[in-house]
Amino acid sequence: MNKIPPFDLTRQYQTLEAEINPVVSEVLRSGRYIGGNAVSDFEQAFSEYIGSTHCLGCNSGTDALYLALRAFNIGPGDEVITSPFTFIATAETISEVGATPVFVDIDLETFNLDSGQIEQAITPKTRAIMPVHLFGRPVEMPPLLDIAQQHNLVIIEDCAQATGAEWEGKKVGNLGHVGCFSFFPTKNLGGCGDGGAVTTNDPEIAATVNKLRQHGQPTRYIHDVIGVNSRLDAVQGAILQIKLRHLDSFNQARANIAQRYQELLSPLAHLVLPTAPPQGKAVWNQYTIRVLSEGSENRRDALRMALQEAGIGSMVYYPRPLHLQPVYDHLKATEGSFPKAEQACQEVLSLPMFPELTSEEQEQVVQTLKQFL
Ligand SMILES: *Cc1c(COP(=O)(O)O)cnc(C)c1O
Repeated sequence: MNKIPPFDLTRQYQTLEAEINPVVSEVLRSGRYIGGNAVSDFEQAFSEYIGSTHCLGCNSGTDALYLALRAFNIGPGDEVITSPFTFIATAETISEVGATPVFVDIDLETFNLDSGQIEQAITPKTRAIMPVHLFGRPVEMPPLLDIAQQHNLVIIEDCAQATGAEWEGKKVGNLGHVGCFSFFPTKNLGGCGDGGAVTTNDPEIAATVNKLRQHGQPTRYIHDVIGVNSRLDAVQGAILQIKLRHLDSFNQARANIAQRYQELLSPLAHLVLPTAPPQGKAVWNQYTIRVLSEGSENRRDALRMALQEAGIGSMVYYPRPLHLQPVYDHLKATEGSFPKAEQACQEVLSLPMFPELTSEEQEQVVQTLKQFL
């Protein structure tokens, strides 16, 4: 039986090996391993791609979020509204700067923040909203932008899973005040190691992020604030330049795979399939279905097991919402606090999804699914 992985990074490297190896060798021969053209050229190309005036590379998507929060001076005593159904880094960075994450439940159809519930979570301490474009689906931004404007809040977009996604023709990362990207290998634009970037149209915020990412020095060896060491490596900059040229075609391949899953799976009961947003463009970092249960047995878990037995990998992003994580016990949320996020954690299953997945493999996934259901 052929093993079908949830994602396979080796196939993309095979496709791009002839392009990537020479630019990596060039960096290695140059002796310029930190900074230099490889990084600044990538930053330039990426800000052009996103449509923002500034792009600042950094060590990871987590650091991008952290640097963005710091740049807006968000810290102790401040609250930031975000989703409980996301990767820990989203809330973790809010805590890391000393602020408090305030969770708002999600909309089950989009898996994104339910904008209708945001206003009731706003307090005098609220400084920012951090929407997450989860699984590559862009958040419907206009309502959030309205709320932010009314209450004088900053919007920090977590774009880690959505590089290339759009809302009404505008790329995520260029919709709020600042965009935070991850180049972790499995993201839509993935490097061969860690990497991240902050995008913004605000020159002051860009200058502050630039300072913070290099030990808080506005000029060399003058430090006026406690910063961090967070750089994008030259090798990653060179690789990401190559991959950025292919990003739209990789995202198109993901969209085609999603479309095919949609066609093959839509007659099946007990499944809720992800939808594409009408005014936006999703980039399908994940293809995440909901498996509805009957009675007390969790059918999602049973299906995942059946796929596993057939040699098909699938993933549960995420099995536990952030408000029920031990690290957030002190926020005093309980089971039932955010019912939609909790329900999602019981039902979601991400099927194999990567640009190089073949249609034969997809059919095998669907066959196995059908047998189980
Ligand atoms: C991956 C991810 C991050 C963190 O990115 P890293 O590069 O792994 O630090 C943040 N938020 C979300 C939603 C992510 O998926």
